[in-house]
Amino acid sequence: TVAPDAWLASEGAVQAVRPARLHAHHKGSFGDVIVVAGAPGMVGAALLAARAAVRAGGGRVYLVPLAEDAFAVDPTHPELMVRPLGSLEPMLRAGTGTVVCGCGGGSEVAQILPAVLHAAPRLVLDADALNTMAADEALRTLLSHRGARGAATILTPHPLEAARLLGSSSADVQANRVAAARELAGRLRVTVVLKGSGTVIAGPEGPSWINPTGNAALATPGTGDVLAGWLGGTWRPGEAALDAAVRAVWEHGAAADRWAATHRGPYPASELAEAI
Ligand code: AMP
Ligand code: MG
Repeated sequence: TVAPDAWLASEGAVQAVRPARLHAHHKGSFGDVIVVAGAPGMVGAALLAARAAVRAGGGRVYLVPLAEDAFAVDPTHPELMVRPLGSLEPMLRAGTGTVVCGCGGGSEVAQILPAVLHAAPRLVLDADALNTMAADEALRTLLSHRGARGAATILTPHPLEAARLLGSSSADVQANRVAAARELAGRLRVTVVLKGSGTVIAGPEGPSWINPTGNAALATPGTGDVLAGWLGGTWRPGEAALDAAVRAVWEHGAAADRWAATHRGPYPASELAEAI
């Protein structure tokens, strides 16, 4: 225990929640992932998240760019299935995949958030999805009702995004990161990943976790998008949100620690997406 009600994540704790990939598994065993992200000018964020979701073990990974006509295929990752925005709602109605939403999403993300909040059984909300929600009480209400339907949600704010959602400042959030993460988790009935040095993972109740892996090589654009995608890809159907979040944050940071052992300077996010 490193603070009241907060535990330090460890290799052993992560190992205990690392699901097996069995000989008899097939791609349908792992759950599909739908990444809906990337407004015009920001489609790289969507690519980073989707590529990380493939690496993390997502069953089938669909990429739905918010920028219309962005691209039809990722030539270096042809396993990604790129789908137009118009196909999102039918995919959501099928109702099985983990949705990763918001990376580089711009204001465009507002148009799909109600449908995503309603339909996704497992949902990772990042970046502009969080900023949009901070400005829209109706969306926050939709979010807080998801738990009653058995739908699970993970929010991945950095301190400023958390502050916007709490109506406070990033200085206040940083002054007590565990308390801020728990407060947000409790208010919205979600699992919160409060990013930064010593990422805090907190649910509405129970102990929180502080992650010791990672370093300032991650302080570079796109590494948060990689985390969101990694989380979506690693989160198995039926698995507790907190377990998936603790594992993804640990592995993301551990990759950066391996890299920093032999490199200086920032870790390019596109390399991180391949390395975790
Ligand atoms: P974002 O703020 O969305 O770009 O995400 C940045 C990612 O890098 C998050 O996963 C942060 O936790 C991580 N990160 C950034 N700076 C550090 C640091 N100094 N130590 C550990 N992790 C960091
Ligand atoms: Mg970010």
